[in-house]
Amino acid sequence: MSNPSLLILAGDGIGPEVMTEVRKIIDWYGAKRDVTFDVSEGLVGGCSYDAHGTPLTDETMAKAQEVDAVLLGAVGGPKYDNLDFSVKPERGLLRLRKEMDLFANLRPAQCFDALADFSSLKKDVVAGLDIMIVRELTSGIYFGEPRGIIKEGNERVGINTQRYTESEIARVARSAFELARKRGNKVCSMEKANVMESGILWRDVVTEVHQAEYSDVELSHMYADAGAMQLCRWPKQFDVIVTDNLFGDLLSDAAAMLTGSLGMLPSASLGAPMENGRPKALYEPVHGSAPDIAGQGKANPIACILSFAMALRYSFDMGAEADRLEKAVEDVLADGLRTADLLGEEGVSPVSTSEMGDAIVAKLDASL
Ligand code: NAD
Repeated sequence: MSNPSLLILAGDGIGPEVMTEVRKIIDWYGAKRDVTFDVSEGLVGGCSYDAHGTPLTDETMAKAQEVDAVLLGAVGGPKYDNLDFSVKPERGLLRLRKEMDLFANLRPAQCFDALADFSSLKKDVVAGLDIMIVRELTSGIYFGEPRGIIKEGNERVGINTQRYTESEIARVARSAFELARKRGNKVCSMEKANVMESGILWRDVVTEVHQAEYSDVELSHMYADAGAMQLCRWPKQFDVIVTDNLFGDLLSDAAAMLTGSLGMLPSASLGAPMENGRPKALYEPVHGSAPDIAGQGKANPIACILSFAMALRYSFDMGAEADRLEKAVEDVLADGLRTADLLGEEGVSPVSTSEMGDAIVAKLDASL
């Protein structure tokens, strides 16, 4: 078997800073666990535009299609705000998602006990929370036709179309059921079947896939508005939530805030299995390039490090190693280490990006 391969696209702003800490973890796996990753690097976003006049070159795109997993930092920054839409940094990211056909976006909302005070909700509501939102990422109202702003009589009309095919619903439902089997074995599907035909179809297809292939998994359905309420009321009732692109966009942001800081949130976007059985995959922190703190050693690298833990679990079938890395993060937080974004308690002074990375590596060492 060849080594697992990774393409690192650190991007702009704090992207390269947090990715440096992930490299320490990757090197640790090579040195201490005998797991050597074939790592290549490339440019995406503003830095690619600066070097090549495009936010993603064809060569980098081709490389992304070849590797087992892509790890991305963040793209964008004020320097690029006035660029033409076609070459904006985000276009690089969107091209990766589109051409790799990454239809399932996984956003865990996990609350480490040491950070439970950080949530805007009561501590007992969020402490120990561990849920996963699976959002359909390549279809639905953000892509449906017809769309546009047209003139009707004397006024303008804005149009977007919610459109889902059975196969688009079925494949993301399968992703959610597969995930649930590796977690708490429960899926809650959210739509608006009470007012939308696409919601009726969504509910039908999820039910059909469940009956035919995943009847061992517990399935429930909820209207997305009720789901939003339940997420704030008692989020621990959920294990995996599967929903469409629009509702997923909103619900995953709401769930993210249950856990505190942006600097803690990883994500994965998965596509169809490749020849070697691994899914096409891109892992990235939820946060952006944070230009306000870039270059100051203040960025929290944990979101990016937890994204790598997701790669271990979902691309490389190394669940025990993912657990080890997540435990190392948890232990560092339990010791009271905080980057500036996690400060709240008086008398605690923040650690730098690299100190946080080093402390996590030290916990990995201690786990052996
Ligand atoms: P942002 O996520 O970059 O920053 C929002 C706030 O959170 C800032 O105050 C920032 O300092 C803080 N923050 C974010 N990540 C942090 C971390 N790891 N550690 C500590 N603090 C952190 O969002 P923004 O300010 O709206 O956008 C900045 C740029 O990033 C824009 O150009 C935007 O387009 C881009 N962006 C990119 C992505 C992506 O690459 N996926 C996502 C969102 C925004």
